[in-house]
Amino acid sequence: MMQQSPNDIWMQILSELGDIAREDIFLKQTKPITLTDSQFTVSVPALFTQEQIHDRFLTSINEYLEEFVGTGCRLNITVVQPDNNSTPGFSSAAAATSVLPAKETRLDPKCTFDRFVVGASNRLSHAAALGCAKEPGDKHNPLFIHGGVGLGKTHLLHAVGNYIQAHHSHLKVLYVTSEIFMNEYIDSISARTTAQDFRNKYRTANVLLIDDIQFLRGKEGTQEEFFHTFNELHLNSNQIVMTSDRPPRNLETVEERLTSRFGCGMVADIDPPQFETRLAILRQKCEDYGYENITDSVLSYIAEVVQTNIRDLEGKLNRLVMESSVREEELTVEFAARVLGPLSTQSPVVHHRAITVDDIQEAVANYFELKISHLKSSKRNRAYVYPRQISMYLCRELTSMSLQEIAAAFNKQDHTTVIHACDKIQERIPHDTKLEQDIKLLIADIQ
Ligand code: ADP
Ligand code: MG
Repeated sequence: MMQQSPNDIWMQILSELGDIAREDIFLKQTKPITLTDSQFTVSVPALFTQEQIHDRFLTSINEYLEEFVGTGCRLNITVVQPDNNSTPGFSSAAAATSVLPAKETRLDPKCTFDRFVVGASNRLSHAAALGCAKEPGDKHNPLFIHGGVGLGKTHLLHAVGNYIQAHHSHLKVLYVTSEIFMNEYIDSISARTTAQDFRNKYRTANVLLIDDIQFLRGKEGTQEEFFHTFNELHLNSNQIVMTSDRPPRNLETVEERLTSRFGCGMVADIDPPQFETRLAILRQKCEDYGYENITDSVLSYIAEVVQTNIRDLEGKLNRLVMESSVREEELTVEFAARVLGPLSTQSPVVHHRAITVDDIQEAVANYFELKISHLKSSKRNRAYVYPRQISMYLCRELTSMSLQEIAAAFNKQDHTTVIHACDKIQERIPHDTKLEQDIKLLIADIQ
């Protein structure tokens, strides 16, 4: 396998990803660069492209890399800006903050405290995270941050890691999602020789940053392993920071002995931001991305319309910038209203109660007068396919489930079905008022 060139492997992966990849404007901008046993590097011209690929394709691509190259091979997407550097602000800042190569720590250099806008909704979590970063292992240990999707939990986790690397460079910082932790744990038990490596890696960290801990629900073996890792680190006053979409007490099917430990340090939550914070975040993002000349009235308009979460806020800003450049039209409030107007599914204010796949399946089944089992079946008639795709799309939008989890909830082996469903719905919304209406009513119902 290793004789194959990066280009061959990349072509193979893109063809496996199918139509979605062929049509995807972001994947079209990738260039394969290097391939080793553990890393496949592709370059993209912009940060936004990197994020889009990261968010939408990373899991699938990593799976294909495992298959075509070998276990442990991961995708690394690096931004190589064209010579006429259009975002000088970002590239210099990124270079300054990346102390260690990102692949060793998996830290995202752009998620720093400097770039985190503080408002009433996240003040407590920000203060607690900064406290941990300044005095790791001392204050607030463990720190448990919880809140809805896209509200800045992962950003804060990376900010802690980046700060510690810059200010306490002797400390070993490890950032990991619970999903990666579980996958590495499974690898370590299937290939016994690496069990020791796994333990060495996690139990010698000075700072363990573990994202989306709700993923461990129902994963008993991984919980057991995490329990031991946690205890060992905690006993030795090493810092642990965790994030979750819900507070420790609501992590059903995570063992009580774990949830009680999660809550024994500091628990802080993040709420959806208010208008002023949303506006300040948009200004920050313009600076990060090097977007100049976007008027305050346009930013206020976006902040007014998008009330859900920050990821969405950022997405809409990027979309407007891109559309105005593609259509060669000036980015005015009128233009923003035209582009974002029909997509007005963005108003559901994030609810405090975490939405589950069961809520979604139940609402969709009622709405289309089907049985939940129809949604989970693999019957291909249109009466089922369309509601099933809507359900998957809603899971992606309203929960923080991974693609695999969504696939499993619909009895699908392969999560590319989920990607396909989400893309399909997303693409149709702007052209299909009925669909837009269905989605709006469903979201209102679910919340
Ligand atoms: P979560 O992990 O809670 O789902 P993320 O940390 O991934 O959310 O945040 C989603 C996006 O919003 C990221 O691009 C992040 O940089 C941005 N973001 C979130 N909160 C803030 C903030 N307070 N200031 C600036 N950017 C933020
Ligand atoms: Mg996150």
